[in-house]
Amino acid sequence: MEHVKKPEWLKITIGTNARYTDTKRIVDTHKLHTICSSGRCPNLGECWGKGTATFMIGGAICTRSCKFCNTLSGKPLPLDTQEPERVAESVRLMKLDHAVVTSVDRDDLPDLGAAHWAATIKAIKEVNPNTTLETLIPDFQGREELIRMVTDARPDIISHNMETVRRISPLVRSVATYDRSLEVIRQIAESGITVKSGIMVGLGETPEEVEQTMDDLLANGCRILTIGQYLQPSRKHYPVHEYVTPEQFARYKETGEKKGFATVESGPLVRSSYHAEKHIRYK
Ligand code: SF4
Ligand code: SF4
Repeated sequence: MEHVKKPEWLKITIGTNARYTDTKRIVDTHKLHTICSSGRCPNLGECWGKGTATFMIGGAICTRSCKFCNTLSGKPLPLDTQEPERVAESVRLMKLDHAVVTSVDRDDLPDLGAAHWAATIKAIKEVNPNTTLETLIPDFQGREELIRMVTDARPDIISHNMETVRRISPLVRSVATYDRSLEVIRQIAESGITVKSGIMVGLGETPEEVEQTMDDLLANGCRILTIGQYLQPSRKHYPVHEYVTPEQFARYKETGEKKGFATVESGPLVRSSYHAEKHIRYK
């Protein structure tokens, strides 16, 4: 496919300030991984400069290899049993009002990493009783007993990303499927925890397909949606088909909120965890 030129609205400057340096120091000294740096997030300067970061647990290597994702894939290292405490301590040191945690997929483990997830949620809540917590979880292969281990640990918001519309899912997601992700969302909603999901646009989807995904999410109990521009992390990743205009993003927000989402965060630089602290009000 022909290379699509990046528009002006996606050109950002990464400034650093004292808070940015502190965030980086805490992440580095606690040997933590963040999706901010492994995902080469365009908001890193802004978020770290405000003292927010999205921790990635379960190691730095994912057992899956989605075509849009910059996380390393391959055979992961054994789980680090001290990681829950270190993440909890970092949340304390960063004085976070709202923490966001995600993970790589651990299809290599008998419980797919569910117990490690539950231990991390518990540790963060124990050390930081006043911090609200959002967890962006994998599909746990749709195994209800494993998803229940996460919902039973009661984070404030659970997010599970659809990533894209139904037609494009098999082209870019590895292992995960559209219908299974909807099932995960339904199970979380049934647990009474606020559910959030996210999609990327610019992968070749049509606005009608995005609206269908909104309808599917709402029918399964999702209340918060994020929509952001897909950026190709490297030349070997799935190509960008289109840079969606800010006006189209604004239309998606309006349509989604009319359809019934409590809020839709939609814009070129929006990521699942972008301005996540604002979403706690929809709990
Ligand atoms: Fe990190 Fe999320 Fe901010 Fe990106 S938007 S820098 S992933 S917290
Ligand atoms: Fe990336 Fe896919 Fe692994 Fe998630 S499951 S970390 S999107 S490769």
